[in-house]
Amino acid sequence: MPSNLRIDPERLWSTLMETGAIGATAKGGINRQTLTAEDAAVRGWFKREAETLGCSVTVDEVGNMFALRAGRQPGLAPIALGSHLDTQPTGGKFDGNLGVLGALEALRTLVSAGYETNAPIVVVNWTNEEGARFAPAMLGSGVFAGVYSRASADAIADSEGIRFGAALDAIGWRGETRAGAMPLSAYLELHIEQGPILEAEEKTIGVVTGVQGVRWYELKLSGRESHAGTTPMPRRADAVLAAAHLISAVRDLALAHAPTAVGTVGQVEVEPNSPNVVPGHVRMTVDLRHHDDAILAAMETALTAAIDRVAGAEKVEISLRKLHDLAAVQFHPTCIAAVRSAARALGYSERDIISGAGHDAVHMSRITPSAMIFVPCKDGLSHNEAESATRQDCAAGAQVLLEAALAIDAQLASGPL
Ligand SMILES: [Zn+2]
Repeated sequence: MPSNLRIDPERLWSTLMETGAIGATAKGGINRQTLTAEDAAVRGWFKREAETLGCSVTVDEVGNMFALRAGRQPGLAPIALGSHLDTQPTGGKFDGNLGVLGALEALRTLVSAGYETNAPIVVVNWTNEEGARFAPAMLGSGVFAGVYSRASADAIADSEGIRFGAALDAIGWRGETRAGAMPLSAYLELHIEQGPILEAEEKTIGVVTGVQGVRWYELKLSGRESHAGTTPMPRRADAVLAAAHLISAVRDLALAHAPTAVGTVGQVEVEPNSPNVVPGHVRMTVDLRHHDDAILAAMETALTAAIDRVAGAEKVEISLRKLHDLAAVQFHPTCIAAVRSAARALGYSERDIISGAGHDAVHMSRITPSAMIFVPCKDGLSHNEAESATRQDCAAGAQVLLEAALAIDAQLASGPL
């Protein structure tokens, strides 16, 4: 049975629109990159709203914000609900914002009903989820989870040479507490899907069971530059021809694990890039993704086999360097079940789904039981000013977030998850 608490869809929507004005772009999106004046403005807004609700707001050493409402049972660690308020340079109104503002709406609902949870509830705004200004993405949650040190985060420079640490100090949002110092009982994150599946299947709620793993590689192909008119075909060592074989091999190794595996060659640089020279050099990237690390490993083996085969056949030397290796994430079964049960009890259509994109929950799942809730977005479009989600779907997501948090809270009374 769901609780009798109901979030206020209009209040949630007007909050999304109100904060959407901070960094608003002409095309209806948001440009609120991390640690800018716009980021500072939305942080101030969030702190004031949370304090109006009686929350205490703390900020940690990398600027992560925590709005805490006490629970009634002493000794229980907080249940965290959150996401991020930073955006891409041409971001939309929902990516990240829905997760923080949906959590705030859940908190407002608890406060206005006078409902006391067993565990404290903390709404979190993670610093620099997007990674558009300071790479890597998911930095604040990464420091909180112990994946990166504060010192390494502080040292990251943006394209103008400004360091993360200096930018954080400059906007005045570096806090006192050590990142990761707050123990948590669980973490739930509401987010738009950023993909087309829920919309296509007309499902309201995605019960996110995990996040697919990602591996990035850089390939360098070295053949021999020669005259395009005078070099007979059998005597060529054509780096672009070898690259072409590898590009189709990447598609084939992804299709071998259809429909869930994906493989992409997104960058190809050719030297000397001249119409009448047999190309001698190519630099290209390969991006492989799957939710099962064993299959990802098999895809990597297939890639190296393809490289050996093509190198031999085309007389081209090929080197491979791994740039990135993010393991697949499986969320916590109890948290997944809480989301699924909440969606069903509330009468929303739902399906299990695996996230194709990274989220703060990836890092959080290393240190506390975690799960995510997805809602549809129009045409699966995100990282785009035209990003759009409906009022009803946003409200459904926030309602499931509240209900799942209450279910977890009830379980915590009898012990950790
Ligand atoms: Zn996001």
